[in-house]
Amino acid sequence: MLADQDRIFTNLYGLHDAGLAGARARGQWDGTAGFIGKGRDWIIDRVKKSGLRGRGGAGFPTGLKWSFMPKESDGRPHYLVVNADESEPGTCKDREIMRNDPHLLIEGCLIAGFAMGANAGYIYIRGEYIREREALQAAIDEAYDAGLLGKNAAKSGWDFDLYIGHGAGAYICGEETALIESLEGKKGMPRLKPPFPANCGLYGCPTTVNNVESIAVVPEILRRGAEWFEAIGRPNNTGTKLFCISGHVERRCNVEEAMSIPFRELIEKHAGGVRGGWDNLLAVIPGGSSVPCLPADVCNDLPMDFDTLRDLRSGLGTAAVIVMDKSTDIVRAIARISYFYKHESCGQCTPCREGTGWMWRVVNRMAEGRAQKREIDMLLEVTHQVEGHTICALGDAAAWPVQGLIRHFRHEIEKRIDDYAANPHSDPVAMEAAE
Ligand code: SF4
Repeated sequence: MLADQDRIFTNLYGLHDAGLAGARARGQWDGTAGFIGKGRDWIIDRVKKSGLRGRGGAGFPTGLKWSFMPKESDGRPHYLVVNADESEPGTCKDREIMRNDPHLLIEGCLIAGFAMGANAGYIYIRGEYIREREALQAAIDEAYDAGLLGKNAAKSGWDFDLYIGHGAGAYICGEETALIESLEGKKGMPRLKPPFPANCGLYGCPTTVNNVESIAVVPEILRRGAEWFEAIGRPNNTGTKLFCISGHVERRCNVEEAMSIPFRELIEKHAGGVRGGWDNLLAVIPGGSSVPCLPADVCNDLPMDFDTLRDLRSGLGTAAVIVMDKSTDIVRAIARISYFYKHESCGQCTPCREGTGWMWRVVNRMAEGRAQKREIDMLLEVTHQVEGHTICALGDAAAWPVQGLIRHFRHEIEKRIDDYAANPHSDPVAMEAAE
């Protein structure tokens, strides 16, 4: 369990002053100019050494990502873009940072901007996050007034401006190239890669897009040392992590914990345990709605980190842990998730546009038992035809929950089909209309 003194987000719950005075009292903005004085390579090296992996879902090493930015400018400006579009169902961590500890993010933006040669940064915030946007803007204004942003930011010798852009509530704008399109004022549709944003991103200029949490932990990594961060968790899965625990637990919460904390410890210490007791656990979605669910029997000592969950063919994603007890209709739950991805598909590529709707309709029928058993394998085959065959990862995100359902709960689908065959009770027209 993470020791109190190792927490980075010391105002996660908004119990203290979120303003600059409060942030300074918690140690923020301390030594910022000194870190910048040590140079770009030193900062990138420290971030690499800490083992920090992107907190937005993909888990790509942050320092390595920064190092892809050109060392010298070819005349084009460089940009830092912060992805605050947090729309993955179950995920609600970045909004707490923006509400309650915005200066960690702003200080991180200055340091990250300098490390990638950017004099301007954009924070793209989800449209529905109105209060968070206001809180963040107030903090940015405060930082400008105090000389921490703008010309010679924080007396570092580096000029850095920070702007907020806000979306209109489309999930797909959390995909980095769709986000860039949206920031440019266009429809939020993902771009084909390559070229990658580090070569050709915002306004055709070198750009790096990072998650809010990834940027907000950087100042503390530099202050406390990469070795401190690296010592938390286990190799390749280091540092602290914000977990969003929701679903059938006694107390839903956001909590900062050590990476690799065992699942049961996480749930029992912070969320009061599974509703109805541990034996009442049915399944867990460990990283936001796009990752495959896991059945209760593998969850007990499960280290909550990138590599362990990947080996189990699931993922840590955004660490949005959705707990489902035995009262859950798991097939119906996955059908609802399929509906979400169908709704959020931008429609640009055929496997996603057609496949998400097709998967939703079939899983939805299966939830009622109105299907043939041979359709289960057919559905699985379709998920593989969508996965990896689309412009962006939304196709994968739509396929994985269905794959997880079939992998672990095929028996449940078959039982529905048998029950329905024995007693065809549902009215298909009424059910379609209800969706
Ligand atoms: Fe759009 Fe889906 Fe293709 Fe992504 S995978 S570009 S969301 S149609």
